[in-house]
Amino acid sequence: AKAAGGNRFELADPEADARAITRHGLTTALPAALERGEFFIEYQPLVRLDDGTVHGAEALVRWSHPQHGVLGPDRFIPLAEHTGLIVPLGRWVLEQSVRQARFWQQQLPEGALGMPLRVNVNLSPAQLHHPGLVADTVEVLERIGLPPGGLCLEVTESALIGADEDLLKPLRQLAEMGVDIALDDFGTGYSNLANLRRLPVSVLKLDRSFTQGMQQHPADPVDLKIVEGIVSLAHSLELAVTVEGVETGAQADHLRRLGCDTAQGWYYARPGPPERLHTLLLADAV
Ligand code: C2E
Ligand code: CA
Ligand code: CA
Ligand code: CA
Repeated sequence: AKAAGGNRFELADPEADARAITRHGLTTALPAALERGEFFIEYQPLVRLDDGTVHGAEALVRWSHPQHGVLGPDRFIPLAEHTGLIVPLGRWVLEQSVRQARFWQQQLPEGALGMPLRVNVNLSPAQLHHPGLVADTVEVLERIGLPPGGLCLEVTESALIGADEDLLKPLRQLAEMGVDIALDDFGTGYSNLANLRRLPVSVLKLDRSFTQGMQQHPADPVDLKIVEGIVSLAHSLELAVTVEGVETGAQADHLRRLGCDTAQGWYYARPGPPERLHTLLLADAV
């Protein structure tokens, strides 16, 4: 097949063909899927490293596809982003998540966790560029009655690389209202540490690649040094540090010692239905 070259090579590759067909099929099915309610959200707890209490959760969208089963966001978010469906889909995720956070805040004994419970929602670049972002977010928060501090929007580092003031302005407005902005996947982009000062972010989410070398005792000394450096820089800029992908107790120990603030990962809990979080939250509260 290789000898054919050019376009004929692609046509002669049945797997690539099947992938393209699936991609095309998924893309065209997206709008109806939203109308039919085929998307759902799983929540993964965010845990304070100092006392192990849950103080919030990240909303992670899934697609229950009638033929293909449950699809993870990596399968369809890029397609939704490409077609623009990400804007209504993202608005739906925001609304569901804000409702969920409001529900949690009402269900919990006041102040039991020592800090307001919050929900983290991912924003993709197209949403960041959409002119309705601030108005839509404010509208949802007000209509549902969640204080802005109950919401954290996660934006990837790569979406903000080289961002000019026009792009940062909506985030700045949201931050001024009290919505937290987290820099997601920190360390995977072309990190310009000096750039951090310019961004309206209050949380750094350290990518899981940084903690791969800490899964056991003893940890990789170079990884420890790097994370130690990032934590000290972040704290000097008054940013909280959340670590993603914590899979072992050893990692949690190392990260706690390094002064990281919160963690998220399979060691604590996999993403799951909101009811699973209720159990964890209420266990903390007693
Ligand atoms: P992300 O924001 O970096 O989310 C963290 C991913 O790591 C999630 O994958 C989560 O399930 C996974 N994860 C959590 N704990 C562990 C762990 O201990 N080990 C490992 N190996 N992985 C862990 P998921 O749910 O497949 O989401 C993938 C990406 O899709 C997310 O990466 C985010 O960029 C995007 N995404 C998810 N939901 C949304 C959404 O509502 N809107 C947008 N725009 N993007 C979303
Ligand atoms: Ca995220
Ligand atoms: Ca991330
Ligand atoms: Ca990631």
